[in-house]
Amino acid sequence: YAELDGKIWMDGKLVDWKDANVHLLTHAMHYASAVFEGERAYSGKIFESRKHSERLIASGRALDMEIPWTIDEIEAAKYETMKANGLEDAYVRVLAFRGAGEDMGVSSRRNPVRMAVATWAWGNYYGDAKMKGAKLDIAKWKRPSPETAPHTAKAAGLYMICTMSKHAAEAKGCSDAMMFDYRGYVAEATGANIFFVKDGEVHTPLPDCFLNGITRQTVKGMLADRQIKVHERHIMPDELEGFQQCWLTGTAAEVTPVGQIGDYNFEVGSITREISESYEKLVRA
Ligand code: PMP
Repeated sequence: YAELDGKIWMDGKLVDWKDANVHLLTHAMHYASAVFEGERAYSGKIFESRKHSERLIASGRALDMEIPWTIDEIEAAKYETMKANGLEDAYVRVLAFRGAGEDMGVSSRRNPVRMAVATWAWGNYYGDAKMKGAKLDIAKWKRPSPETAPHTAKAAGLYMICTMSKHAAEAKGCSDAMMFDYRGYVAEATGANIFFVKDGEVHTPLPDCFLNGITRQTVKGMLADRQIKVHERHIMPDELEGFQQCWLTGTAAEVTPVGQIGDYNFEVGSITREISESYEKLVRA
């Protein structure tokens, strides 16, 4: 992913990739006081760009962190960075975090809130899974209760359990892990939401303790347009056996078919293909 000769936007100006550094005593590094966005640009246009910027600001507020940039300024920063790197098709990473300063304890009221934007070319998140279907492990870590963590925020701290789950999955030859939630219901993958198909109808977990992804919302709209019934509800683990198709949604993942979760197998069926292909068209429309 490293565009080593490129530029990164930091706190209002473009710096060389190698100079985009922070101090060791950056609050975010010790206490995960950071929120971020993952976005994709297609042919020079970021898909649902403003929604991502709005979510970034909302994520910051959920962590009592006011980002000192407006939506329009964040929009401009993203496009300025893409342009500086000569990218038309790009992954866009926006990060806002509490910097280094006077506070080195848990409280961080006096440290500056900083923001950075990096862009790079990023192909298929799950490699060749788009054709064959990704193989998922079942994570031992559970999505926490909304009383434990601000689940609507794309907050760095929430990714600790994701990285641990993904490493365990990769060690078993899987490309990701599916996580249950604190109650035992099916939740999502470590960086993508999940959908299932049974007898021509779609079932997807209720996002009441994990991120209601922008791609998830887009795909729900696409299914509604096609008059395909979507059941948004709590899904029990023992229901996995009865589902015929499965796919993941996320900005990086786009719409990726799933072929296997633990011992359960799924076909890359017609609804999965239709949604995956239509999403590719939509983002470039
Ligand atoms: N869940 C998690 C944990 C994620 O990291 C992501 C990726 N941002 C998603 C879901 C999907 O969100 P989106 O469609 O907005 O990219």
